[in-house]
Amino acid sequence: MPERPLIVWFRQDLRLFDNAALTAAVATGAPVVPIYVLDEASAGKWQPGAASQWWLHHSLAALSADLASYGLSLHMLRGRHIEVVPRLAREIGAAGVYFSRAYEPWAVAAEKAVHDQLTQAGDHQAEVRRFPGFLLKEPEDIATKEGNPYKVYTPFWRALNLGGEPRKPLPRPQKITPHRQKLKSDNLKDWNLLPAKPDWAGGFRETWVPGEQGALDRLETFLENALTGYAGGRDRPDRESTSRLSPHLHFGELSPATVWHSAKSWAAGRGYEGNGLEVFLKELVWREFSAHLLIHFPGLPDSPLRAEFERYPWHDDNAALHAWQKGRTGFPIVDAGMRQLWHTGWMHNRVRMIVASFLIKDLLIDWREGEHWFWDTLVDADLASNAASWQWVAGCGADAAPYFRIFNPMTQGAKFDPDGEYVRRWVPELAGLPARYIHAPWQAPQAELARSGVVIGETYPRPIVDHAEARKRALAGYEQVKN
Ligand SMILES: Cc1cc2nc3c(=O)[nH]c(=O)nc-3n(C[C@H](O)[C@H](O)[C@H](O)COP(=O)(O)OP(=O)(O)OC[C@H]3O[C@@H](n4cnc5c(N)ncnc54)[C@H](O)[C@@H]3O)c2cc1C
Repeated sequence: MPERPLIVWFRQDLRLFDNAALTAAVATGAPVVPIYVLDEASAGKWQPGAASQWWLHHSLAALSADLASYGLSLHMLRGRHIEVVPRLAREIGAAGVYFSRAYEPWAVAAEKAVHDQLTQAGDHQAEVRRFPGFLLKEPEDIATKEGNPYKVYTPFWRALNLGGEPRKPLPRPQKITPHRQKLKSDNLKDWNLLPAKPDWAGGFRETWVPGEQGALDRLETFLENALTGYAGGRDRPDRESTSRLSPHLHFGELSPATVWHSAKSWAAGRGYEGNGLEVFLKELVWREFSAHLLIHFPGLPDSPLRAEFERYPWHDDNAALHAWQKGRTGFPIVDAGMRQLWHTGWMHNRVRMIVASFLIKDLLIDWREGEHWFWDTLVDADLASNAASWQWVAGCGADAAPYFRIFNPMTQGAKFDPDGEYVRRWVPELAGLPARYIHAPWQAPQAELARSGVVIGETYPRPIVDHAEARKRALAGYEQVKN
């Protein structure tokens, strides 16, 4: 009787390095069947958006190539996880299914269903094992003294650290025993994850290298070039001062434990004692905090954590929403951010906060509209981080910015893009304007506009709202929440 194979079910862990499920499967010595299942139905409206699909395609192609170097092929299957995984396990007589844990409510349900089907007494029993890896620490291991979830970041950060260092990353397997039986697999191309007509992904290809090697290279570049300047530079969208690891982390092309320990050993090896390291690790832990919130409050993507915000009098304004989405609001820092997002699938964190505040508080549009747009257009779209961040800006989430703190797009632009370089890059029709007018071009003298080739209302939109008026309206709306 040939040895029964083990299925390694890849999910948001598209890597070979520090992959506990794969390492454990390899350690048994059994033949390994690596699979990926494209499940478009279970996630409902939160199935991956167009930008995420682009990334997924390339990440799966990279993983397939990496597995091929071990003599394995990645089996790609389409359908509901809860049907496809147990069916395959039965077909090939698998001894077990090993996988990394995921945290979206529908993914948690899928894990349980697969477990229940394969472990109940019946014609086929398989061992179902779930491994950590997507987070530094498991959400259940971090709780308040009373055993409740944290809703404030700083005590969460402290609690995460109290439990000791996150576990050390595991090495890549040296050798993986392939399963000899030929299995049916879909062809990645047939999943049509890439845009075809039109192909809008040119800017994505220029910006990113999806896959594990791309992720590790990105981490190294960040450590070498930007970690020491991170504390001062992380708010500057005109500089390459953040890691841009978010899509790699979302797809699990590298683990947060790898990021954590690599950053620490890089700093220790250089004798670096500045605060860039801690500030960076704290940002990484915002990702953990968001996952913690989603696990404990699965309604996070759809409903405000502070329920009284359901009373907020949002405006239905399709023209304004469209102008925001397309980067044509007439506010240069907002438009630059929205165009960077459209072109590259990513936006700098400071600018995400500015554009989100603008949508919610200047246009009075429901934060969920912005959340959905980001979901479709971000390559790092992540259910937990996206929902938690939108709620944070809206003032209705955990440890949120107070609602009455309303970003002024002109002063934010002048402070964080002081020379206007970020705006010039993404809003080229304003490139000729001097820095002092670039964040409020409608205030520039006529002669200056003429010299720079800018005609407000023609070459660049007139502001679609008056910020001072909008601010008053937003605060008036907030009164309804309070009462
Ligand atoms: C409205 C809004 C929506 C957002 N949506 C997402 C999203 O869908 N996916 C996502 O990964 N991040 C989201 N963020 C958080 C943050 O903007 C990005 O994680 C960050 O810009 C990614 O760039 P980076 O990798 O260069 O970050 P760095 O500054 O290098 O930080 C390192 C890592 O820490 C994590 N991180 C940093 N800041 C945050 C944060 N505020 N919240 C959660 N994790 C953080 C990310 O994994 C990031 O890769 C959102 C923020 C806002 C304001």
